[in-house]
Amino acid sequence: MNNDMNRALELLRRHYGYPSFRTGQEQVIASLLQGRDTMTIMPTGAGKSLTYQIPALLLEGLTLVISPLISLMKDQVDVLEQMGVPAVFINSSLAGRQVQERMRQVRQGSVKLLYLAPERLGIEHVREGLLELPIALVAVDEAHCVSQWGHDFRPSYREIGPFIQMLPRRPLIGAFTATATEEVKQDVVHLLGLRAPQVLVTGFDRPNLNFFVLRGENKQQFVLSYVRAKREEAGIIYAATRKEVDKLTDLLAAQGIRVVKYHAGMPDQARNANQEDFLYDRKTLMVATNAFGMGIDKSNVRYVLHYNMPKSMESYYQEAGRAGRDGDPAECLLLFGAGDVQTQRQLIEASVQNPERKHHEFQKLQFMVDYCHTDRCLRQEILRYFDEENLPERCDHCSNCRTEWELQDITVEAQKIFSCIYRMRQRFGAALTAEVLRGSATKKIREFGFDQLSTYGIMRDKTLQEIKDQINYLIAEEYVRMTGDQYPTLQLTPRAAAVLRGQEPVTRKTLPQPVQDVRIDSASLFERLRALRFELAMQERVPPYIVFSDRSLREMAEQCPVRPEEFLRVNGVGEVKLERYGERFLAEIAQFINAGDGRSTVI
Ligand code: ADP
Ligand code: MG
Repeated sequence: MNNDMNRALELLRRHYGYPSFRTGQEQVIASLLQGRDTMTIMPTGAGKSLTYQIPALLLEGLTLVISPLISLMKDQVDVLEQMGVPAVFINSSLAGRQVQERMRQVRQGSVKLLYLAPERLGIEHVREGLLELPIALVAVDEAHCVSQWGHDFRPSYREIGPFIQMLPRRPLIGAFTATATEEVKQDVVHLLGLRAPQVLVTGFDRPNLNFFVLRGENKQQFVLSYVRAKREEAGIIYAATRKEVDKLTDLLAAQGIRVVKYHAGMPDQARNANQEDFLYDRKTLMVATNAFGMGIDKSNVRYVLHYNMPKSMESYYQEAGRAGRDGDPAECLLLFGAGDVQTQRQLIEASVQNPERKHHEFQKLQFMVDYCHTDRCLRQEILRYFDEENLPERCDHCSNCRTEWELQDITVEAQKIFSCIYRMRQRFGAALTAEVLRGSATKKIREFGFDQLSTYGIMRDKTLQEIKDQINYLIAEEYVRMTGDQYPTLQLTPRAAAVLRGQEPVTRKTLPQPVQDVRIDSASLFERLRALRFELAMQERVPPYIVFSDRSLREMAEQCPVRPEEFLRVNGVGEVKLERYGERFLAEIAQFINAGDGRSTVI
């Protein structure tokens, strides 16, 4: 066994160029190599793929990888090819002749991993071809897709269990997912037919991710300034509805941001084209609904911003986890707005019938609402949710742990707003309330006699938008409640009463400016290496992050390796990549150093 694990480590270094395993990876590999069915639950971005790829290289015979998305299979296989791992995929984009050629390679034994979409298992001649192969391991990626309780149920995943039963020799089964709920776990074990499986749930912490929750912001304004500050970096914005995605994309595009969008209401072709533009770094920003992201392994996503609160911590962590797969610092921001709770409630009401299940969904939603309002360390809250036993110390870099907040006393403004809501008898919405406070002379206001109220025009010094933002903040902080679906009206909560009586102050925390790390200026070596990477990626028709991750480039820019041995020490550089790209990158670095714009400008 030890011997096997040494070989596993050697493969990790040679092919992947990583010095050591991450938490949990070794156990999964060891379990599979011991011949045990294994279910692996690790958060998104933690590194599940290589926990079946390395055993695939060590086991005698073929590993069949079942993966949900045809459009991404090529990328996954490209990654492996780049590292010198013999893999192929078969999907509906290939002609019959190509499929036969690949099957021949597989039969010859020159291929160790065969990637396949589950739909293929339903096609008789494909299935028959597969039955003849010496399959040692079936690795089911995104295994939660087999479960109706999961968030991405795919009926074709139900073909996997019966297919395995048909095989003349029962292979080892590995199931991989980020979803840890009990129902999903049970479904995966039963429906895939795992025998006496080892279930390995590894730490959910992703130390390089920094979490932020911002309540009651003017979302559009925030996004604009945030995205502008990050315009060179890859990022994803998730919004709750297609409409919101469309709107936001148009807004950002009009500001010259290189943005694309993705949601289920678009034609396949447009969606795939946008996905490619994003993967290949031709566009830096993806605005999408939760339809986007599964199977996307783009490693250099530097931020994931949630424009709306998602429905559960599972969904949130999965989506946010798409940031920073390369291990470099990345930001996960959630903009909580008062309307978000209502939107999610409606979605649950519309999509879940079973009352028990509905209750369950509402509980999960409530946890998200609580998460958005807690004062405690956000990282700890997340890990607590996933039942992590050894919670880390306060993290010092989530929005609750950070100390550089600017604290503003807004008690007087809040009192003005509350008193106006009260005088309007708690029967109107935010827009009209803001107009009264601002002292607008509209017909409606005169008709209702609101221009006679003592609160009429008492916030004349503010813009309408500023007043509305302030109201939204007070709603997010639960001083004010919004009731009624179609024409929501504002009502005061007991918290507001205490403020009106002068018993409690209201403060507002603002983050100075979205934290921006200016590690690298644009003239730096990093940018030159990035340009070189882009050029090579275009030649080879693969996404740039497949050539090298951002992290690898940054390490090159910091360490300035000049000899091949030094180059090998860079994270993500294995022997195969050294051979393939070493010369070009070393030359670029040498040129940079010699040109005299030397190391001092690098950081
Ligand atoms: P998951 O499938 O769990 O979401 P992936 O398998 O896509 O995650 O891995 C995420 C990223 O982490 C990839 O870029 C991968 O190369 C990288 N990675 C995996 N294991 C290691 C490791 N031991 N050291 C450094 N990087 C790793
Ligand atoms: Mg994965």
